[in-house]
Amino acid sequence: MSTQKGTIGVTTENIFPVIKKFLYSDHEIFLRELVSNAIDATQKLKTLSSFGEFKGNLDNMNVRVTVDKNAGTLTVSDHGIGMTADDIDKYINQIAFSGAEEFLAKYKDNANAIIGHFGLGFYSAFMVAKKVEICSLSYKENAEPVKWTCDGSPEYTMEKCDKSERGTDIVLYIDDENKNFLEQAEIDSLLKKYCRFLPVPVISGKEQEWKDGKYVDTDRDKVINDTEPTWTKKPSELTDDDYRNFYHELYPGQEDPLFWIHLNVDYPFTLTGVLFFPKIKNNFEITKNRIQLYCNQVYVTDSVEDVVPDFMMLLQGVIDSPDIPLNVSRSYLQSDTAVKKISGYITKKVASRLEDIFKNDRPDFEKKWDDIRIFIEYGMLTDEKFCDAAMKFALLKDSDNKYFTLDEYRQLIESNQTDKDGNVVYIYATDKVAQYTYINAAVEKGYNVLMMDGQLDSHFIGLLESKIEKSRFVRVDSDVVDNLIPKEDKKTVDLDTDEREMLSTLFRSQVPKVEKAEFLVSFEALSPEANPILITQNEYMRRMKDMAAMQPGMSFYGELPDSYNLIVNIEHPAIKRIKEAADNDVMPDIKPINAAIAENNDKIKALRDGAKDGKLSEDDENQVKHLEETVTHDRHQQSKAITDFAANQPLVKQVIDLALLANGLLRGEALNDFIKRSVALL
Ligand code: ADP
Repeated sequence: MSTQKGTIGVTTENIFPVIKKFLYSDHEIFLRELVSNAIDATQKLKTLSSFGEFKGNLDNMNVRVTVDKNAGTLTVSDHGIGMTADDIDKYINQIAFSGAEEFLAKYKDNANAIIGHFGLGFYSAFMVAKKVEICSLSYKENAEPVKWTCDGSPEYTMEKCDKSERGTDIVLYIDDENKNFLEQAEIDSLLKKYCRFLPVPVISGKEQEWKDGKYVDTDRDKVINDTEPTWTKKPSELTDDDYRNFYHELYPGQEDPLFWIHLNVDYPFTLTGVLFFPKIKNNFEITKNRIQLYCNQVYVTDSVEDVVPDFMMLLQGVIDSPDIPLNVSRSYLQSDTAVKKISGYITKKVASRLEDIFKNDRPDFEKKWDDIRIFIEYGMLTDEKFCDAAMKFALLKDSDNKYFTLDEYRQLIESNQTDKDGNVVYIYATDKVAQYTYINAAVEKGYNVLMMDGQLDSHFIGLLESKIEKSRFVRVDSDVVDNLIPKEDKKTVDLDTDEREMLSTLFRSQVPKVEKAEFLVSFEALSPEANPILITQNEYMRRMKDMAAMQPGMSFYGELPDSYNLIVNIEHPAIKRIKEAADNDVMPDIKPINAAIAENNDKIKALRDGAKDGKLSEDDENQVKHLEETVTHDRHQQSKAITDFAANQPLVKQVIDLALLANGLLRGEALNDFIKRSVALL
């Protein structure tokens, strides 16, 4: 042939600046593109051979990447299908024309994994090269070898050359800004990133060995890839160790994965892969070791946000699908129905696999539950379909470390823990140590206590309440044990108004100051064996505060002081003693004051009621004012008498401090006082 000169068939005057700047943000992916083309050409020849259209030998069907630092070149060579001058004209010079698509159309159902989805793949070479040569010899009979040269302008030359081996060499004359691509180490690391699972052996440099104190090249070629990665094999051919080894190959230095799921679909889209449930130790690992997305064994990205549902970002592994559109915008991916289907499929598959594991090896599933619960709860909270599926295998753990499915648990507690309104009450604790007293009391009463100490449990409880009919969750310390599950036969508190007021003031006056906390005194007739005083926290308020801590925009709740109920057990002997002492010592003083207060209040009321048209005469107004002042004064007197009395009763302080201590609320000076007082009591 005679040397041909021409202009590359693009409408834009010069497409290269566009390619360089906008098409690909990462320059390094040129290597992925060129190696992919080389693999593609190799696979095409294998396909042709299987159809009997190529009869030559298929030895040495590898791809070689060669760095020549002196010449300043990087060469990607293959022994694939090759190109004639016509092919180059058609596939390279008219760059809008993608040869892969034509080939695919023709050999639709049989083409050996053809990678050709990257559009302007070949031209990405100009992101790093000032000149590119293609030397190619087509597989076709009597084909002439051809050399195409282009320096990055739209002009190219094409001439005959003396290549004798079938296949293609793509030679890149690396430009000055990209000299790093002439470093063997850099190329090796890129190949490891993009090509480590390609289906044809990729050779780069030589194997090295340790000799005379340093590494030296041997004459063995270094193959950088595993041509048959685990996910391309049949699950039936793989052992557990195969999966584990594959996991460690992907994520070196990690602990063994807990479970894995082998994905394999071919209709209505093609998708393979293996997903692993990692043992998560800290959040940092989640963002670092993510799911990798491949397209016919070519690494594409590890940003899979739009392809898998949010909660699966906690998983690791590989998804390989030629049906996920690449190099398109995020918003396009999100609205793409194929991508939505893929995401839905993965969800379904993960759920059904988890159910299998649960059914087939429940002890193992239970053992791993604490590690996977964050994943499953997150999934249930964010994905309706996953939630419905997971209702079958989501577990609850009780304070004895026994595990139950949601159905099993309901059956377990239904008869004993249904309140008077027919709601099944789920009692839970969030901290086994801090809430020990309460858990113990509940268990002694024959209740079961759940451990809800996972990171997402405050949200998860809300979800369960909405999913499980007639259910209510209460934290074990939200009320005294007798009130956790309100039943009809509650014992009444036998105190008159005077006594209530007196005891209320008596106890409230002796609560030491606890920062950001408020205490409300109330009375219960619990069993004499129960604690004299219990401190509980309103379930609703506490949940609001817990949520506020996790979500911005709810700071109103976060700023409120913690409000606690100080519940006095009037049946407890110690309380009885305190009351008896008060009845003897202060009640006689208080009774007349109370009577006076009541009398004055009555007078005030009578005056107000007698007012004409709601308006008091000046005289009456003065009288009311005077009476009110007297009442205030009396109240003060009364309160002082009770407080003075209480202050002299170490037992009052002692029972309060014990309750605070049981809740971890006794600190600093108050704790010190308690210890001193306790020692004195000895
Ligand atoms: P795509 O791979 O998307 O088709 P490219 O620009 O990467 O786009 O390549 C264009 C075409 O050039 C390919 O489809 C193929 O026909 C041809 N080609 C590229 N590289 C090679 C190669 N190494 N061997 C044979 N043909 C090749």
